[in-house]
Amino acid sequence: MQNPALFHVLLDYLESINAPPMEIERFVDRWHRLRSHESFPCPACFLMGEEQPLLPVSAQGNVEPLVCPTCRTQYNVPIDD
Ligand SMILES: [Zn+2]
Repeated sequence: MQNPALFHVLLDYLESINAPPMEIERFVDRWHRLRSHESFPCPACFLMGEEQPLLPVSAQGNVEPLVCPTCRTQYNVPIDD
């Protein structure tokens, strides 16, 4: 699987906003079908039926944030050391 740390953060996000389990499953399916050249999709926009690519922003402390340019949600991925 691609980027398991980010995947975990995005799933936590979907759970934190009480996304319906069906939608979470749909997102997981989508993730597993991601090709290496595709950007990671924003889960918030995905719930709205849109696919928006997450953009990495510069690391802050021990997190590597990704931001959705459309809904401006930020996802903080902890950096492993
Ligand atoms: Zn978004």
